[in-house]
Amino acid sequence: MDDLRLGHVMQSGWSGDIVLLGFPYDQGVAINNGRIGAAQGPRVFRERLEKFGTIDNPETDINLSSLQLANAGDVSSGLSHVESHLELTRSVGKIMDLKGIPFVVGGGNDQSYPNACALLERNDSVGVVNIDAHLDVRPLKDGQAHSGSPFRLLLDDSRFQPEHFVAFAGQGSQCSRQHAEYIQNKGGNILWLDHLNSSPESDFDRVLKELSSRCDSIFVSFDLDSIESAYAPGVSCPGTLGLSACNALHLARLAGKCPKVHLFDMSEFNPVIEADRTGRLAVSIYYSFCQGVALRRRPS
Ligand code: MN
Repeated sequence: MDDLRLGHVMQSGWSGDIVLLGFPYDQGVAINNGRIGAAQGPRVFRERLEKFGTIDNPETDINLSSLQLANAGDVSSGLSHVESHLELTRSVGKIMDLKGIPFVVGGGNDQSYPNACALLERNDSVGVVNIDAHLDVRPLKDGQAHSGSPFRLLLDDSRFQPEHFVAFAGQGSQCSRQHAEYIQNKGGNILWLDHLNSSPESDFDRVLKELSSRCDSIFVSFDLDSIESAYAPGVSCPGTLGLSACNALHLARLAGKCPKVHLFDMSEFNPVIEADRTGRLAVSIYYSFCQGVALRRRPS
């Protein structure tokens, strides 16, 4: 009792300040010819979460006991690709209707469009930041959504204003010019990894403030492959370069702290490739996001 961790305080259910939901599917990764295994992500993530994360952190002076941390379980497995996406949108919407912030753990990055849909159904003006080495605006394959297409679907959705889209920490060696122009021609924004400040946190903070001034609600989507593979090898497509682990945790905390962030998802954790280092980083991102939400509530 003198060292409470996340596993001690999380409660099962759909209602809470931050509600964890798993999307245990990697069909979208397979369609995109990636390495499958992310379907195991939510299960391993929860195992790691049990003993992790002090509730009352003496270093940051943030106490998570002021927050209700809920665990809604996973979207049920065994659904078809299309049905899994529809069920994901319904589940995320259910959490929003209960006034919680969904924290969705994938699964493939195709989850991000169904996640965004739940927010688009409930808000007139949505901002989206995709932290990702890739732009993920590839066309559908044989009419099917996949892990490389979620933000094309978003930019083509008439409910979304593309000028409210920011691709953050993209890497030009992994993204085609055509795809970059697809975003820019729509009016969206790209902040390439190499153009970020030595402290990417300041760029991210500015992006959140700008979107906050123009939008009712913000979705932050985090693909773990935006992080250097030295820190996050357990993803379908690891990057030689990328954000540091420290950057990633600071960005997650800033997202949590921003009052307009009403949805967060984390994609591509693939424990079949590597579970330990990447798993610890994945749960640390969740922990940092929760710390940020606790700060959101704190009078400054
Ligand atoms: Mn991605």
